[in-house]
Amino acid sequence: MASKTLIAGIIVLIIVVGAVAYYFMGKGGGETYSPTTTTTTTTAQKKVLKVGTSPDFPPFEYIAENGSIVGFDIDLVRHLAKMIGYDDIEIVSIDFDGLIPALQQGQIDVIAAGMTITEERAQQVDFTIPYWQADQAILVRNDSDVKPASAEELEGLTVGVQQGTTAQSYLEDLVGNGTNINIKVYTSYVLAVQDLVNGRIDAVVVDKPVAQTFEKTYPVTISGVIETGEKYGLAVQKGNTELLNALNNALQQFMNSPEWDQLIQKYFG
Ligand code: GLN
Repeated sequence: MASKTLIAGIIVLIIVVGAVAYYFMGKGGGETYSPTTTTTTTTAQKKVLKVGTSPDFPPFEYIAENGSIVGFDIDLVRHLAKMIGYDDIEIVSIDFDGLIPALQQGQIDVIAAGMTITEERAQQVDFTIPYWQADQAILVRNDSDVKPASAEELEGLTVGVQQGTTAQSYLEDLVGNGTNINIKVYTSYVLAVQDLVNGRIDAVVVDKPVAQTFEKTYPVTISGVIETGEKYGLAVQKGNTELLNALNNALQQFMNSPEWDQLIQKYFG
């Protein structure tokens, strides 16, 4: 008898619990559906990757005649973004030395700016695997009397660099070690090269592939190379491993594809 009552009790309990659960599922379900609807709306919107760059570093990033920002890095990121599920990229133009702060503040998702992977920067951002390697070059006017072939030969000269670059820290280290160089810092490498052309400074120290591009568009020439063996990486916010891993996988894959060679051909041909 006792067990029968117990079984009946359990059955009643199951029915009650079931009914209550059913009731709340209906209500609660309705409530959980509204945020789901919002999510659906978001997904329907375009997924855009915000890319920060400083478009004064040809052929990696520069301003085309029609005013749009183009270059190797831009094509690279557009390609990677597509590979990892973004519909589009949005280019945000920021002075080179403002890129890391902009990334940290969340104004952009990724930096694509021929940025050298350095220990100091790696404390502030996360870098992808390297995608390019470069040395520094010394750029002078074609008709220049001085043609410094090495860093030591910059002694006594006024030398332009872009703010926040590895070239700036390299020159500052030289000065710190006793070399007499008058460093002139510019917000953009294009302005530095223009001042060089106008005779306001003696030389510009800039990444070699970029110096080679300036040689084609300005009356300037490379007088020497400083072998720094820098490696460029894209940068994401520190700890954004999801984006970092996705970019690294895509980058690895892309660099092993024929499109990579086509991209190099397009900008370095
Ligand atoms: N590669 C250099 C650096 O990272 C210069 C980059 C640039 O001026 N865009 O400092």
